Amino acid sequence: MGKKIEISSKGYEDGSFQPYEFKRHAVGERDVLIEILYAGICHSDIHTARGEWGEVSYPLVPGHEIAGRVIGVGSKVAKVRVGDLVGVGCMVNSCQTCSTCSSGEEQFCEEGKTVYTYASKDVFHGGALTQGGYSNNIVVDEHFVIKIPNHAELEKIAPLLCAGITTYSPLRRANIKEGDEVAIVGFGGLGHMAVQYAKSFGANVSVFATSESKRDLAFSLGAKHFYNVKNSEEMQGLNNRFSFILSTVASSYEITEYTKMLKVDGEIVIVGVPSLTNPATLDATSLIWSFRRKVSSSLIGGIKETQEMVDYSVEKGIYPMIEMINIDELDQAYERVLKSDVLFRFVIDMKSLK
Ligand code: NDP
Ligand code: ZN
Repeated sequence: MGKKIEISSKGYEDGSFQPYEFKRHAVGERDVLIEILYAGICHSDIHTARGEWGEVSYPLVPGHEIAGRVIGVGSKVAKVRVGDLVGVGCMVNSCQTCSTCSSGEEQFCEEGKTVYTYASKDVFHGGALTQGGYSNNIVVDEHFVIKIPNHAELEKIAPLLCAGITTYSPLRRANIKEGDEVAIVGFGGLGHMAVQYAKSFGANVSVFATSESKRDLAFSLGAKHFYNVKNSEEMQGLNNRFSFILSTVASSYEITEYTKMLKVDGEIVIVGVPSLTNPATLDATSLIWSFRRKVSSSLIGGIKETQEMVDYSVEKGIYPMIEMINIDELDQAYERVLKSDVLFRFVIDMKSLK
């Protein structure tokens, strides 16, 4: 047994962030020790920290959009070397042997052993709760480490590890063809990545958002149409328009407002996860009278696909728009995300932790 790793971080408790020191498990023979250089702020961090998806233990260190550099490796690590640039997303371990893990979908481990990056029971280390990326270092099984090319813009890679894969994966599965009409609902951290991927797959992209101020930005990222959902006139005449819709909305809305806009056998995939107390609703009667439409969901993406997404994004120059902050600005940043007052993702410069 090696030595446990001392960690500095910011932990959330009683509604704000405070300095928090704790220990991570030792670097095992297949583990990678990473110095975290950048961490994105996902809306999921906020839902989780505020207990909106259920009870959590505090202090809680969120952060699952991690980019950094390898500073140590276990004796059997073959995937990366000290000095390599790497990323870590929403998972840090799983059984790695069941049929879904083997097929590259570790987020759906059939043994129920997916270990999420924070607020998750680490069944491989005595059931301790994991803590995330708003911290200086992390220890991760090599399988869950994503390789980042040396020439990539590292601070912009961090948000790809969740916002990127969560939108890339369902859009890839949608088999979009040149000229397909595709809508992205919610134009925040996830939504602005989705617009860029859908466009790169050949779609005519429409954006549905609440912030009028983002209209021109939608066009500049490749959208053909922008609909302000608060403007009832703009929301008319859209029935039977889209073959595919991706919804990234983080708050309450009625899903059948969008099923009606699908063509026959068109599909809406939900990735936004509103709070349990203010959920999105799906009215069965309206769904039936939307005729034959598919409603499904998607949860991040597997490790193989996450690597593919990073490589694709770097090759195509598809990056998030980011606003860099110091770690002391976390509380204000959370408030601003809730007001949709960020273009489009906050990234913490982890140098500010020292
Ligand atoms: P953001 O807050 O960055 O983006 C959400 C956007 O939705 C905002 O920009 C917001 O404002 C817009 N919006 C709010 N209400 C509406 C509405 N009624 N109609 C249309 N747009 C609306 O959050 P993220 O992109 O980080 O995350 C989005 C959701 O996805 C969260 O619930 C998060 O937890 C979830 N998530 C799910 C994952 C999964 O694997 N399924 C993974 C990661 C995140 P505006 O329109 O003004 O821009
Ligand atoms: Zn996320």
